[in-house]
Amino acid sequence: NRKPAKSGTTFPDPVQFRPDHITRDVIDKVERDFSDHPGALDSFHWPVTRKEAMQTLHRFIEERLETFGTYQDAMLTGEDTLSHSLLSAVINLGLLTPEEVIRQVEAALEEQDAPLNAVEGFIRQILGWREYMRAVYLAEMPDYASVNVLRHEADLPDFFWTGKTNMNCVAESLRPVVEHAHNHHIQRLMVLGNFANLFAISPQQTADWFNEMYIDAYDWVVLPNVLGMALHADGGTLSTKPYIASANYIHKMSDYCKGCPFHQKDMLGEDACPFNALYWDFIDRHEKRFADNPRMSMMYRQWGKRDADSKRDIRKKAKALRKQLQDGAFDTP
Ligand SMILES: Cc1cc2nc3c(=O)[nH]c(=O)nc-3n(C[C@H](O)[C@H](O)[C@H](O)COP(=O)(O)OP(=O)(O)OC[C@H]3O[C@@H](n4cnc5c(N)ncnc54)[C@H](O)[C@@H]3O)c2cc1C
Ligand code: SF4
Repeated sequence: NRKPAKSGTTFPDPVQFRPDHITRDVIDKVERDFSDHPGALDSFHWPVTRKEAMQTLHRFIEERLETFGTYQDAMLTGEDTLSHSLLSAVINLGLLTPEEVIRQVEAALEEQDAPLNAVEGFIRQILGWREYMRAVYLAEMPDYASVNVLRHEADLPDFFWTGKTNMNCVAESLRPVVEHAHNHHIQRLMVLGNFANLFAISPQQTADWFNEMYIDAYDWVVLPNVLGMALHADGGTLSTKPYIASANYIHKMSDYCKGCPFHQKDMLGEDACPFNALYWDFIDRHEKRFADNPRMSMMYRQWGKRDADSKRDIRKKAKALRKQLQDGAFDTP
C-alpha cells in the first residue's frame, strides 16, 4: 500500500445516485433552514437505501477493488476517491453489515481472481481497524473524549470549513470534505491530522470538526481515529507512535507539492513548507515523551546530530509559523 499514483493515472468513477424524493426534501429543508452552514448540497450523490448500498458494494468489487491495495495510501490532485470503496457511511448506518462486505470481498479472491494485496488490505480495514476503533471507544469512554496529553491548545483555523488555504495539500484534502462530506484515509490522517498535530491544534476542536463535516462521522469512530490515531492525544492507548510527517512524505505519496506556493525541500526560508520546521519542532517539544520510543529513535538520532544554531533556527521558525496561522497567513480569499 505504499505506492504513489503517478500524475495522469486514472481510476474508474464510483457509482453515484440521484437524490430520491426523501433526500430531495431533506436537501430543501437544509437549504432553507441552514443556508449559512458550511458544505455543499448540490453535489449530494450518496447511497441512502439498502439497494443503493448493495450497488455501491458490487460496483466497487467489480471495478475498483483490484487497485485498492496498491494505491491505498496514494493521493492525487483531482482524484478524490482513487480506489477507495466509499462504504464507510452505509456500513456505519447499518445499510450493510461489516460481515457481508467482508464475505463478498473475500469471494472476489476466487470468483474474479482479485489480487491478494487488495482483498487482504481491504478486509484488514474493516475486520481490523474498524473493530479496533470500536473496541477502544467502548473500553475508554467517557474519559477518552477529553484526552490531550501533548497539551495542544491552538484554535483550528477557519479555512477548515471552507477549504480556502494556500497550503496545497491541505486545500486538496479539504475540498472533497466541503463538497462531498468525505475524503480518503490518508488525507484525513497524513494531511489534516498531521496539520493539526504539527500546528498544536486542540484535539477536541479537531474531533468536533471531523464530527461536523463528514458523512460517515459518529462519536465512536471519530474519537479513536482523531484523538488516538491521528493526534496521539491519548498518549499511546491506541497506537504506538504519532503519525507525523514533513513535506517529504506528502511529496512522495502525492503530486500536491508541485502545485504549491511553498517549497517542499526548504525548512527555514520565507516560502519553506510549514510542515518541515514544524515536524522537527514537534520532535523537539515532545522529546521527553518519545525519545525512548523505538519506532522514533531514528528521528531522535537525526535531531541529535543538529547543532545548537540549527535547532534554535527551527524552533524560531516553528514559533513564527504557529503565530502566522493564527494571523491568517495561510488563508486565501
Ligand atoms: C482523522 C480520521 C478521522 C476518521 N473519521 C472517520 C469517521 O468519522 N467515520 C469512519 O467511518 N471512518 C473514519 N476514519 C477512518 C477512515 O478514514 C474512513 O473509514 C475511510 O476513509 C472511509 O472511506 P471509504 O469507505 O472509502 O474507506 P476505504 O478506504 O474503502 O476502507 C474500507 C472500509 O474500512 C473501514 N475503515 C478503514 N479504516 C478505518 C478506521 N481507521 N476506522 C474505522 N473504519 C475504518 C471503513 O468502514 C471503510 O469503509 C477516520 C480516519 C482518520 C485518520
Ligand atoms: S509544499 Fe508543503 S504545504 Fe505545499 S503541498 Fe507540499 S507538503 Fe503541502
